[in-house]
Amino acid sequence: MKVDWLIVGAGYTGAVLAERIASQLGQKVLVIERRDHIAGNAYDYYDPHGILVHRYGPHIFHTNSKRVWDYLSQFTEWRPYYHRVRALIEGKEIPLPFSLASLRALFSERLANKLEEKLIAHCGYGARVPILKLREAEDPDLRFLADYVYRHVFEGYTLKQWGLRPEELSPTVTARVPVLVSYDERYFQDTYQAMPKEGYTALFRRMLSHHNIKVLLKADWREVEGEVCFDRMVFTGPIDEFFGYLHGPLPYRSLRFELEHHPRLYVQEVGQMNYPNEYPYTRITEFKHLTGQDYLPHTTIAYEYPEAYEPGKNEPYYPVPKEENEERYQLYLKEAERLKAVIFAGRLGDYRYYNMDQAVARALKLFEEVVHE
Ligand SMILES: Cc1cc2nc3c(=O)[nH]c(=O)nc-3n(C[C@H](O)[C@H](O)[C@H](O)COP(=O)(O)OP(=O)(O)OC[C@H]3O[C@@H](n4cnc5c(N)ncnc54)[C@H](O)[C@@H]3O)c2cc1C
Repeated sequence: MKVDWLIVGAGYTGAVLAERIASQLGQKVLVIERRDHIAGNAYDYYDPHGILVHRYGPHIFHTNSKRVWDYLSQFTEWRPYYHRVRALIEGKEIPLPFSLASLRALFSERLANKLEEKLIAHCGYGARVPILKLREAEDPDLRFLADYVYRHVFEGYTLKQWGLRPEELSPTVTARVPVLVSYDERYFQDTYQAMPKEGYTALFRRMLSHHNIKVLLKADWREVEGEVCFDRMVFTGPIDEFFGYLHGPLPYRSLRFELEHHPRLYVQEVGQMNYPNEYPYTRITEFKHLTGQDYLPHTTIAYEYPEAYEPGKNEPYYPVPKEENEERYQLYLKEAERLKAVIFAGRLGDYRYYNMDQAVARALKLFEEVVHE
């Protein structure tokens, strides 16, 4: 078989590049995927009860990029959806990200009033302040608040999520945790927030339906290597695996999802409940909130348990954000730069956490700057 491009991986990165190359350059593309389905980690399917669920964890689409939004809108209609998250803190359900509404859910009216006044005076209404910044405030009440959020919302969750203490992770992780000086209870503040009307897999099916694209499932690139002739290749699998773990494995954190079906309309009020402190799981997602299947009288929820990554046994989900891992990745990047005919990209190829919109934006940019040169 002879193609112009071999693309390894049918997630966002591979699918966007395949679609652009096929439709804009008129070239032949073979996409190979080792799983038995397309859509990468965004894959969704109907469970035996007819509920649309996400196999690799809940995926909520949000972006500030009009370009990404317009691009994906060619392949799907959208259902408006604002993600809402609550956390169980000291026996109370509070909104996340931590906001003025969370203050009211947790503290006495007097204390909440005082903290709200000080937060607005210090940061301005509408601000999004990282807790590390708030910890530096001179006012002892603001420092108390920053410490409270750190200890009750962030620390336990981090320990469960990564199996590491916050100090062991790159400081960028702590720096990101915000306090929201507003009553906005939306989890994301992006301009575009929605779910694909018929789900992510349907979106990918349309993206890959061009006559210049062939998709081969259940095929690892090592099996296909000698069988297919191609001019160039995009590799969206793990970069360390590609190079035979030459510089040692790049560490990932994995997850286990347990689905549970309930014969009732809903089991929780919002799409996601977080459990930073109690219980071995970190969050419970109720898919119907995300997908809008409110016409069904029953519901499916997913418990999420973080666990160690073991190659071949579970999935490499999150690159572990530590400086030494970044240094190891740089060694692989040097190897990659020597291979002119292979482009490495995507969350596994770049060893980066990307949201879906970032993965799409990176693929569109690669198409313009590297592929279409
Ligand atoms: C738990 C979780 C929740 C998330 N939630 C959100 C969210 O709410 N919103 C959001 O915007 N983003 C979310 N994301 C991020 C989103 O999943 C990524 O942005 C997206 O998956 C990136 O696409 P990709 O193509 O780079 O990688 P992937 O989707 O992982 O695709 C890579 C594909 O390559 C295949 N592959 C790998 N190696 C080989 C090989 N050797 N041969 C053949 N095929 C191979 C893999 O099987 C995979 O299908 C979440 C991620 C996780 C882990």
